[in-house]
Amino acid sequence: MKKIAEVVINSPAAQLGKVFHYRVPESLTGNIKVGQVVSIPFGRSNRPVEGFVVGFTETSEFKELKEIGSAPDQEDSIKRELVDIAFWMAEEYMCSLSDCLRLMLPPAGVSRQREKAGFVALQKDRDEILKLINSKRIRGSRQIEVLNYLISSRQSGMTSEIVRKTGADYGTLRSLRQKGLIEIREDYIDKSPLKDKVIEKTYPFHPNRMQKEAIDKISEYIRREKQGEFLIHGVTGSGKTEVYLQLISEVLKVGRQAIVLVPEISLTPQMIQRFVGRFGDKVAVLHSRLSDGERKDQWYRIKENKVDVVVGARSAVFAPFSRPGIIIIDEEHEHTYKSEKTPKYHARDIARKRCEIENCVLVLGSATPSVETYNSALEGRLNLIEMPERVNNYVLPPVDIVDMRKELEDGNKSIFSRSLYNAISENIGNNNQTILFLNRRGYSSFVLCRTCGYVARCRNCNISLTYHLHGDRLVCHYCGYSRGNFKACPSCGSEHIRHFGIGTQKLEEEVKKHFPTATVLRMDMDTTSRKNSHEEILGRFRDENINILIGTQMIAKGHDFPNVTLVGVISADLMLNIEDFRSGERAFQLLTQVAGRAGRAEKEGRVIIQTYEVDNFSIQTARRQDYGEFYRQEIILRDELKYPPFCDIVSIMVTGVDQTKVRQTAEEISCVIKKELQDHGEEITVLDAVPAPISKIKNRYRWRIVIKCRISRELREKLSRILREQSVGAQKACNISLDVNPLNML
Ligand code: ADP
Ligand code: ZN
Ligand code: ZN
Repeated sequence: MKKIAEVVINSPAAQLGKVFHYRVPESLTGNIKVGQVVSIPFGRSNRPVEGFVVGFTETSEFKELKEIGSAPDQEDSIKRELVDIAFWMAEEYMCSLSDCLRLMLPPAGVSRQREKAGFVALQKDRDEILKLINSKRIRGSRQIEVLNYLISSRQSGMTSEIVRKTGADYGTLRSLRQKGLIEIREDYIDKSPLKDKVIEKTYPFHPNRMQKEAIDKISEYIRREKQGEFLIHGVTGSGKTEVYLQLISEVLKVGRQAIVLVPEISLTPQMIQRFVGRFGDKVAVLHSRLSDGERKDQWYRIKENKVDVVVGARSAVFAPFSRPGIIIIDEEHEHTYKSEKTPKYHARDIARKRCEIENCVLVLGSATPSVETYNSALEGRLNLIEMPERVNNYVLPPVDIVDMRKELEDGNKSIFSRSLYNAISENIGNNNQTILFLNRRGYSSFVLCRTCGYVARCRNCNISLTYHLHGDRLVCHYCGYSRGNFKACPSCGSEHIRHFGIGTQKLEEEVKKHFPTATVLRMDMDTTSRKNSHEEILGRFRDENINILIGTQMIAKGHDFPNVTLVGVISADLMLNIEDFRSGERAFQLLTQVAGRAGRAEKEGRVIIQTYEVDNFSIQTARRQDYGEFYRQEIILRDELKYPPFCDIVSIMVTGVDQTKVRQTAEEISCVIKKELQDHGEEITVLDAVPAPISKIKNRYRWRIVIKCRISRELREKLSRILREQSVGAQKACNISLDVNPLNML
């Protein structure tokens, strides 16, 4: 009997998101397995389209099945376990299987054929070559240049590059080959972003007591190849990364591979160096700045087991390793682990599922774990490992909170409180460095006419425009729309225009005004758009001992600056007053992180937080760096208001250009859901459809329905069906999307 393949078409079109049956032709039997990418004839015209084989069946209710056309590329197949994860994702996030499967493949569109080129490699080791050169047994200066080049670049290099850099020609290379000193061969070009970097090898530290406990506990699972999940709750500098490195060594010993996820923004050279320093060229790196070609190349290196460790952002959780033994998620609380595009997955959920399917260890690490994760740990669903002390015993810096209401009462209208002002002056005088943190870029947050109350808004989004000094323009941070600044009100003609709120540009201006002798750098999205500009700014800050670094949350992470002894938070209020139930948690995390930038070395540090809400518990607990207390207060609120982890939140967003249709559609969906879920037994709250906090983006109106519930399989099925019916219904003008436990409530 001929086998029948279940095939999913590789297409984002929703109506194609089901499983089709195709016969496996005689010529391909044995060649086709689950996860295979195949070409199949589709539709009436039988045009060839790409599909994924997701399973097999012996019988089909359909007659007249077509045959699979061909299986073009064996190399591109998706391993069975990842196909299983795609099935799980499609159900979990209520999205199409095809969208999920596509995540498991390297970027499409770029050529599959990797480029080959000529390579030259030394055939003798370094000392021998140096001996030959020193004893003058090799004379030609070009030949010597080539050998020196090869020695300095780890024994091998691309022919074209060697020719260009040393001035040698192919004759030179041929004579070196004749002497048996080099080999010339064709090979795939290594597009690894690390190939030119010389990274010093590092060796494991002797672990301290806390580290040893963590390593022993987790290694036990690794050695026995047992599934397990751990949360390492450790302050910054407690040695978590060193624990990760030693765990990876254990994983490699049992012949398995390691996946390390870090937030995009921490994928800095320093971070990558720590992994490459330990595991050399066995490391692949995946981040968003790679070109598609580079990404594809990394994907093949992983797939062909040329590397054992991958360090990457969110999507690296799908790395096609054959036998992953550990998945590590550093800074597990970070929001970048949640995809904002469909499928709206969370890398932590995927990692957990993958560990379950592939029987490996999941390690989450954070100084400020997400409330959901910490709650799971306390309730025993995962193992909690506490690492409360810093390796080098540097004390955490004292944090002062300044009441800005009091400053105003006392007649200080400046954006600097007196104590921050004095601390900065003193720091400049002592030649120590200062970091000033403000979580808003641009100059001012909104522009208002004092005569008529007109506020400059984006014409595509319902959001006020931010003034930017550069080009004297008003800019929308959501869609990029910009217009020239105005001196007179476009509405009433009055010239009483005022700028409210401060952004990093304005802060920079104020710093220069108040501290004219200080050297200043600013780091935000506007100053870091070029490749590497991020590193350049931080490099200059360190190397040129710049007095003051101003920045948004970009500066909150990662780097150790031994000379930074003062961190000032200009306005903590900006983080608190966001219409999102996670804003308190986010504020605590950011403040804790920023505070950690001060006093990272021998010098003592100090942190000053300015706010109008001194009593806010996120600020107070961040001041004491007291995660436990923050958690205890936050979890009470979550319980009272029924927010995660006490329930799941399903957000259904309806968008479209026609405001009335968007509204009608949203109201109808809410109505249908309410009706259908009425007798669903468990506690479910379906909130009325309302405009999202940002009610229009890029000319599309946005309405939202929030459902608070314990999400279950049955509920998922119901919701999927309702949404499918609504999508094909009358209101084609609208787009309906769904997000389970969204991290962004705007
Ligand atoms: P975390 O990841 O928790 O912030 P790290 O692993 O980066 O902490 O460790 C902080 C610093 O201490 C790093 O410079 C690291 O090289 C060093 N370190 C870590 N473990 C040890 C150890 N056992 N002995 C000495 N130094 C260590
Ligand atoms: Zn006006
Ligand atoms: Zn806009």
